[in-house]
Amino acid sequence: MVFSTNHPLNGKASSNGIHQADKNGSLAADDLGEAHIGTSLETPLKPDAFALSDEAKMQNIEGHFRAIMDILGLDLKDDSLQGTPKRVAKMFVKEIFNGLNPANKPRVSLFENKFGYDQMLVEKNIRVQSFCEHHFLPIYGKAHIAYIANGQVIGLSKLNRIVDYYARRPQVQERLTMQIAEELRQVLHTEDVAVYIEAYHMCVQARGVEHQDCTTVTTAYSGAFDREDVRAEFLHAIKG
Ligand SMILES: [Zn+2]
Repeated sequence: MVFSTNHPLNGKASSNGIHQADKNGSLAADDLGEAHIGTSLETPLKPDAFALSDEAKMQNIEGHFRAIMDILGLDLKDDSLQGTPKRVAKMFVKEIFNGLNPANKPRVSLFENKFGYDQMLVEKNIRVQSFCEHHFLPIYGKAHIAYIANGQVIGLSKLNRIVDYYARRPQVQERLTMQIAEELRQVLHTEDVAVYIEAYHMCVQARGVEHQDCTTVTTAYSGAFDREDVRAEFLHAIKG
């Protein structure tokens, strides 16, 4: 999987201001994570990330998670707890983090734009369900996507599947937004793409500052969406 970060018209991600990075690079890794700052636009993966089979990964994770529960003092012989390590391992590998593996990337079929629709298409309220890579707690909210077709159109449900694929990784919201936008530019062969995500972060709600009502908004605009009138039409459509 290649995620280009030097694309000339790469969408610009911005957030609502709570994620301001210290640009002089003096933050320690702990501080970076605590401030919910991501370090790269590509998901940081080891070169041998998929050397182990899913089965081997689940077995390893099960053992390690059992150790964590044991250290916490939980009685793993209890009927309610004994299946948890295995369940967590399966959930990590097969469900909530299965978007790490490029083998699970959705195949996208394009259709010829025979009817010549050349206006903006907006897909609103796409469910976003991800996990913060700093705390492994849920990020949940909605994505709104728009594009202007360049000869070919995409099956609508594929937009949801693309969001899901990139969400099923440990993430930071800014990277998730830009990865979705880049994927759309590539599969749709157009720069005219907009992605808007508004989400709650459990690591802000349940720990740290424990603010319940705060959401984070991130956006990626490119091509025609750099124009104020086009962007205004998109923002009007998603608010309506
Ligand atoms: Zn977090």
